[in-house]
Amino acid sequence: MKSLVRKTSIAVALIVVAGTTGALAAPCMKITLTGTQGGPPVFKGQAGAGTLVQFGEDENQCGAVKLQFDAGRGTTQRLSEIGVPVGKLNAIFLTHMHSDHTEGMTDLMQLRWHFNSAGPKVDLIVSEDAKSPRGHVLSGRKFAEHIGDALINSGEMAQRLAENPKRKAGGPADLINVMTFPPAGEPTVVWSSGDVKVSAINSRHVPGHASFRVDTPAGSVVIGGDAGNDKPKPPRETSTSEQVERLAQGADVIVHSTIHPVMGPDKESGFPPPIYFRQSTATDLGAMAKRTGAGHLMLTHLIPPMGAARQGPYPIPGGALNEAAYKSAVQDGGFTGNTIVGTDLVTLQLPAK
Ligand SMILES: [Zn+2]
Repeated sequence: MKSLVRKTSIAVALIVVAGTTGALAAPCMKITLTGTQGGPPVFKGQAGAGTLVQFGEDENQCGAVKLQFDAGRGTTQRLSEIGVPVGKLNAIFLTHMHSDHTEGMTDLMQLRWHFNSAGPKVDLIVSEDAKSPRGHVLSGRKFAEHIGDALINSGEMAQRLAENPKRKAGGPADLINVMTFPPAGEPTVVWSSGDVKVSAINSRHVPGHASFRVDTPAGSVVIGGDAGNDKPKPPRETSTSEQVERLAQGADVIVHSTIHPVMGPDKESGFPPPIYFRQSTATDLGAMAKRTGAGHLMLTHLIPPMGAARQGPYPIPGGALNEAAYKSAVQDGGFTGNTIVGTDLVTLQLPAK
């Protein structure tokens, strides 16, 4: 009884404080594309796929909670450009185990081991081990367990530990708190902290692929990853994922990997049809964003990159694409909201300033 009284008086005190300052702190979120490269090729220094979602209020630049979704090549560099230390990330979520979405995490965790060995650990949220039809297993858990192996086996870590024994003896894997979830066809909460809730849904690309949704008091964002339709090729209604569409119902923002229709097998690029068909086209994403009522569609993991004459070895029919070419593909799908054709570090803030 005594504690109840105490809590009540604290609540009253908080209301009084808010009243005297004139307004309660306004919640806000920021969505930053930390890398927009589509697939394993390199092009003009673009970083590999990744999205940083931050939530907070004006006083902390919307940055009280920092969540990284995928961590492709160069993620650490991009985070450093916006002043986000890797030691401040609360959690990392991986959509799938393809190297272009994960290879930056090795570097990121090594840096954390150097300067944040005292903790805290970072949560790593990945799908449970997933077996492909051919029998090989994709494992985010093993990826985390072995993240420092090359440098452990080269002797590098032993040498550094001898200089500074305060570092974690087991290497960067000791700083990862692996949280696996079973792939589910309906949105399932996989991580939460205070007002921030992250849900996942299983979607098709490679076994274990997941798409995520972040809900906060300032808004909501879906990160589709490389999701495509469960039907691996036409005839089908759309290239986009029905699961992602369910996850995105009512969400303010959709961040999604995309491929431009110019790479389709009906054109002259020679791009392998199975790889084309397992991505969502910009046009179909426009149609999906219209159906779910999103205000913003952020295209990332662009195949091909803007300005590139080729995607890896495959030439772009008609020459390099620009922003307008992606925007018009989205408009062909009927979307009339705000389309952002992703470049590294482009940022969207909610509510708009
Ligand atoms: Zn990819």
